[in-house]
Amino acid sequence: MLGLYLSVPFCRSKCTYCNFASGVFPASHHDRYIARIEQDLIAVRKRAKHSGAQLPQAVDSIYLGGGTPSLLSPTLFRRLFTSLRREFAVLPTAEITVECAPGQLEPAVLETLAECGVTRVSFGVQSFVDREAKSIGRLHNRAIALEDIRRVQAAGINDVSVDLIAGLPGQTLDSWYESLGALAESGVDHASIYMLEVDDESRLGRELLVNGGRYRAKEVPGDDLIADLYTEAIAYLAGHGLAQYEISNFARSGSESQHNLKYWRRQPYLGFGLDAHSMLRTHAGATLRFGTTDDFDAYLESPGWSEPRRLDREEEMDEAWFLGLRLNEGVSLAALRGEFSASAVREFLSTIAELEDDNLLTFVGGDRVALTARGRLLSNEVFGRFLAEPAVA
Ligand code: SF4
Repeated sequence: MLGLYLSVPFCRSKCTYCNFASGVFPASHHDRYIARIEQDLIAVRKRAKHSGAQLPQAVDSIYLGGGTPSLLSPTLFRRLFTSLRREFAVLPTAEITVECAPGQLEPAVLETLAECGVTRVSFGVQSFVDREAKSIGRLHNRAIALEDIRRVQAAGINDVSVDLIAGLPGQTLDSWYESLGALAESGVDHASIYMLEVDDESRLGRELLVNGGRYRAKEVPGDDLIADLYTEAIAYLAGHGLAQYEISNFARSGSESQHNLKYWRRQPYLGFGLDAHSMLRTHAGATLRFGTTDDFDAYLESPGWSEPRRLDREEEMDEAWFLGLRLNEGVSLAALRGEFSASAVREFLSTIAELEDDNLLTFVGGDRVALTARGRLLSNEVFGRFLAEPAVA
């Protein structure tokens, strides 16, 4: 089974913390962009064959991310879904997610999403506290966000997810509980909790790095408080029926994001559009990774994906660890022995034992290795220790 990701990089305004390849473009660009994606949809089979990749025909997940896909017109949504269903066998049971920004979901668009078979909407709320949402450039308030969630549910799209960010300017433990409380009150079945990313790809991140005062960088909570917010969220959401299943993701049982699980389980997916990543397997099972440019104009003119890069065995093993360990279900040593070899897995046993001693890893369900709660907070350190291991035979 295949997953499809479509990047829709259009936003109404740019949020201060945003480090995605997205921007504010006139609506006239939307048409050209969707037409460009359609070219890739048509060309994909030939490209896969040329690269020696297996391309599963059946699609069981589609994810429109962004950007703010809900800014596309009903006509473009219909065109896109018609093209997708023409080029792939999209299963009737497929999970089809569209990311939306609260306050930016026109009634006609919502109606079209339901008509097109969308099963899941993911709302980038980030905070239900009005002053926090405003401070990062979001265009909604709490009332609008809650009303939009209700509208989506009333339209028959029952799987709704909400994103929140821990670490926004001015955030406190009390205001965090306000956001978590609103999330619980909304009755959604899925939540993503991200810790603020600090890098030079966002305006807020750049201000933080140079200790500047714009975008309220000076009011960003310290690392200890951000870690506390994250830890509190895990307990709070569990208390409201949303169990953690990945470092940043929480769901009621059965509402986990099937599309995102593919990334962590290293199942094949194709990414279309700007700055989209893909993973396919060769007929012998080797991993191929490729992607598209993050430059909008270059993408419109480009021939599409980069040449696929075939991972070597060591890189595949690294991925098996750092993607699989993101999941609470952890990594099965038996599965790794089957995919690689017993001796390849043996090379990691001393690292696992050390990380267990440091309370960063633990065994769950027999032979599965998973991060502890502490390990989830320090996941980059854990992944770094795995990557330092010697080559796989
Ligand atoms: S955070 Fe989302 S809505 Fe805000 S600018 Fe980035 S992609 Fe657009």
